[in-house]
Amino acid sequence: MQIPIAKPFIGEEEKQAVMQVLTSGQLTTGPKVAEFEKAFAAYQGAKHGVATSNGTTALMAAMMAHGIGLNDEVIIPSFSFFATASCVLSVGARPVFADIDPVTFNMSPEAAEAAITPRTKAIMPVHLYGLPAEMSKFEAICQKHNLILLEDAAQAHGASIGQRRVGTWGTASFSFYPTKNMTTTEGGMVLTNDDEIARKLRMIRAQGMNTQYYHEIVGYNFRMTDMAAAIGLVQLGRLPEWTNARQHNASYFNSHIESVTTPTTPADYTHVYHQYTVRVPDGVDREAVAKRLNEKGIGVRVYYPLPIHQQPVFQQMGYTDVHLPETEKATAQVFSLPVHPALTEEERAYIVQEVNAAC
Ligand SMILES: *Cc1c(COP(=O)(O)O)cnc(C)c1O
Repeated sequence: MQIPIAKPFIGEEEKQAVMQVLTSGQLTTGPKVAEFEKAFAAYQGAKHGVATSNGTTALMAAMMAHGIGLNDEVIIPSFSFFATASCVLSVGARPVFADIDPVTFNMSPEAAEAAITPRTKAIMPVHLYGLPAEMSKFEAICQKHNLILLEDAAQAHGASIGQRRVGTWGTASFSFYPTKNMTTTEGGMVLTNDDEIARKLRMIRAQGMNTQYYHEIVGYNFRMTDMAAAIGLVQLGRLPEWTNARQHNASYFNSHIESVTTPTTPADYTHVYHQYTVRVPDGVDREAVAKRLNEKGIGVRVYYPLPIHQQPVFQQMGYTDVHLPETEKATAQVFSLPVHPALTEEERAYIVQEVNAAC
């Protein structure tokens, strides 16, 4: 058996949608982008959606729209994908890393609050693996210290706390990269409830213009194409069913896997299982377990093997005295199993059998 960690799906509807756009002659941002923005913002429950070329440019645009820049600090987790931090550097600001909660793997609100300095401008939790961060706590901290609340929601399409979906607390960036819970090929989107931030995001995305060749601010080319948006519209229609399948696979793993610590979802939180991430017990060699499972044809991956603050480029920038014990421990103990909607019953049972035998 060969079970990949992710299996992006493109069906006939996506192909037809792309052909329709190509036939229409609309080769860049047009009506499909506007339609996709409305549909995705409505799905998450946010007022505005501004589509971008990818999740990284969505994060960069969010930083710029809030005027984050030189001499500002942004508090983020180090246990995330690199783009969570590079977007802060892209505007000349300084990433400040806060440790995680070892149970949820998300940034600890207490650790984030302890990292606030007079230079702190924003806090950006990541809804890692598809589990929402503790947004009511982050919201209270931001209100108390007068800080901007952002969300890196690149892994959390449809995730919620109670009835409220992520992307509705702060300016939030999503990614539609092929391995995410839904895709536009490359693509991203920023959601916000703030009219002025939405207006700035639209300008930042398109060279700082509102009126053609009249540049009010410095902007770039972060545009999504209508082809990508047309794919996104079809995929958004499939997302609820795919999310159910991911949750169904995860609950099967939760009740059958015994050898490793399975994910914990706090009461009232809806986890959308972008990744199904487990932790090996203390003293067990994660590398050996992951290698063994890969040899058995199970495409396990480690997200992420090296925390951002320990990446070579951050070490060169002088982050050598940063120590985040829970983050560093997690990077040595976690691995993710295939949980994608295309898993068969047979594959699920095989994964359980091999994981239970692996350590
Ligand atoms: C995927 C991802 C991004 C970047 O998205 P791209 O579309 O690949 O640029 C940012 N943050 C997190 C947490 C991600 O998982």
